[in-house]
Amino acid sequence: MTLETMDHDYVLATYARNYSSFVRGEGSTLYTDDGRDFIDFGSGIGVNSVGHARPELVNALCDQASKILHISNLQVIEPQAKLAKRLVELSGYDMRVFFGNSGAEANEAAIKIARKYGETHFDKKRFKVITLENSFHGRTITTVKATGQGKFHTPFFAPYPDGFSYESAIEAIVEAIDNETVAVMLELVQGEGGVQPLDKHAVQMLARHLKEQGILLIIDEVQTGVYRTGKFLASQLYEIEPDIITLAKGLGGGVPIGAVMTNLKDIFQPGDHGSTFGGNYLSSRAGLTVLDLLEMQYDQGEIAQRQLIFEEKLSAIMAQYSFMFDAAVGLGLMRGLRAKNPESQSAIIAAAFAAGVIVLKAGRNTVRFLPSLTISPSEIEEGFSRFEKALTTL
Ligand SMILES: *Cc1c(COP(=O)(O)O)cnc(C)c1O
Repeated sequence: MTLETMDHDYVLATYARNYSSFVRGEGSTLYTDDGRDFIDFGSGIGVNSVGHARPELVNALCDQASKILHISNLQVIEPQAKLAKRLVELSGYDMRVFFGNSGAEANEAAIKIARKYGETHFDKKRFKVITLENSFHGRTITTVKATGQGKFHTPFFAPYPDGFSYESAIEAIVEAIDNETVAVMLELVQGEGGVQPLDKHAVQMLARHLKEQGILLIIDEVQTGVYRTGKFLASQLYEIEPDIITLAKGLGGGVPIGAVMTNLKDIFQPGDHGSTFGGNYLSSRAGLTVLDLLEMQYDQGEIAQRQLIFEEKLSAIMAQYSFMFDAAVGLGLMRGLRAKNPESQSAIIAAAFAAGVIVLKAGRNTVRFLPSLTISPSEIEEGFSRFEKALTTL
């Protein structure tokens, strides 16, 4: 039985899969079982923030596995407490943290925090959450409803939870707020929606307006967080103080972990929320190690340097292939090229794969780049040389 057959026969068909099988990675280079190598400009959708098989992470995970993997949240977990402290210190916000296992779970917790706040802080209950069109907040029944893309709200899964609405722009959000609105939830750079950064000034204005009204600002940093846009949080880049921040993708370097942080430090009492796995020894140790590595590389200016090289390469592609692309978009190491012709999006990604470089799609017409934050200059060079070769075949 081939791997492809086994996958078809036994795994539910939720993904349009590519059947090259990867067996090993090192830094930002991946190797298949039949000996091909690929430059990884996708890092598992922004997850492998410190690259593949980074020795410090491998050693920390092996060490942790040889001691305790998991013990449940009924006991205090030293690496979890340390990770919460690190997240709060790196953010500079006065917050507390809850850990889950994914981005969707972090956003679920954020919505629960907002709902409890809406129930307990107003005379008349508030429960509505406004999000943006083209947003993406997850695949659970609630976070998919929070996602502002109609294609995800198929009748298959109805009925969905009430209390979510979508606006096309920040100015429209301000208009849409009513006396049942409890929170606004945003990605500062929309990821899945097409690598679309929001306007900093408009976000700051919204943040001020919400603060005056006592309405919560939830920033979904599941993709933008953990140095992806150049600072530890995109919220720091935008110079705002959200009430709730969610993290996941890059935080564990490949080990599943999600986190929600909030300045409503006393919102939850024992019994309000929980997770069996969330923030266990293994995932917390992974998070601590990833933060150690990335903070060091950030302080040494290495993340900024990679960002600059990546940006230059993208601008060069943009200049040379302006007949194919409308714009180079994004921030930090969260980047995209907007294809002029939406039909060419898949063709570009497939050609890039054939040329040995992994890139991702986003939105209707964006080719997305989410490399590891520690990608080497020579891997960036090689990846773009392969990408350019791919473009010449189209
Ligand atoms: C990926 C993503 C999610 C969902 O994360 P999962 O770990 O897949 O549940 C939520 N929000 C944003 C902004 C994301 O990019």
